[in-house]
Amino acid sequence: MKNEHMTSLSFPRNWAFAMGVPSLKFLPPEGPPEVAFAGRSNVGKSSLINALVGQRALARTSNTPGRTQELNFFVPVAEGREDEPQLALVDMPGYGYARAPKSRVEAWTRFVFDYLRGRASLRRVFLLIDSRHGIKANDSEVMDLLDRAAVSYQVVLTKIDEIRAADVEPTRLAVLDAIRKRPAAYPEVLATSSAKSIGIDELRAAILISANPGISEAG
Ligand code: GDP
Repeated sequence: MKNEHMTSLSFPRNWAFAMGVPSLKFLPPEGPPEVAFAGRSNVGKSSLINALVGQRALARTSNTPGRTQELNFFVPVAEGREDEPQLALVDMPGYGYARAPKSRVEAWTRFVFDYLRGRASLRRVFLLIDSRHGIKANDSEVMDLLDRAAVSYQVVLTKIDEIRAADVEPTRLAVLDAIRKRPAAYPEVLATSSAKSIGIDELRAAILISANPGISEAG
């Protein structure tokens, strides 16, 4: 991706878990630009965040009790370098559990919508879609939510190592076509595999640019 060579900031190497936020009243005051990650349970969200930060177990899988219904904030560990970007990563609770009771889905929706709608420091949501399954009904509902909240979101395909190489580009284009008319959808879809480290640098570049829009001109 050309963008990467234009950026003067580099993706932080060291990250720490800052806090888990179980409800709106515990949300920290707005600080650095945030990018958030959303996706169905099991989409590969924890694996992707771990691949991005280069740490094996920063984000825990959705099987970890307790953390599942929280917004988990991760921040770079300051190293005193001049080119440190201002950034926080927010791992949103997974959705679409097969047996989730209606009340839990409603609570998720309310909490997430309140966060999305009220958070000026939130620059982009990366919406993860399993490349094997494509956009499911609950993914569409979350896109409706993002469109209503007017928060910019970018679709990221996960687990592309699980589909045939020849199917990756058609899958990407089909998803791009499906979101074409959605007002808040970013018109570019990334294809990634945490397992095979594909598309990770491109996603890092997209994160840096969405959090620090000036940088593409700086370097
Ligand atoms: P989460 O529930 O969205 O956080 O998903 P996880 O990151 O816990 O991953 C769910 C399952 O998918 C685990 O068994 C992972 O090993 C697997 N997985 C995650 N990313 C990839 C990938 O890029 N390729 C493959 N083949 N499997 C993956």
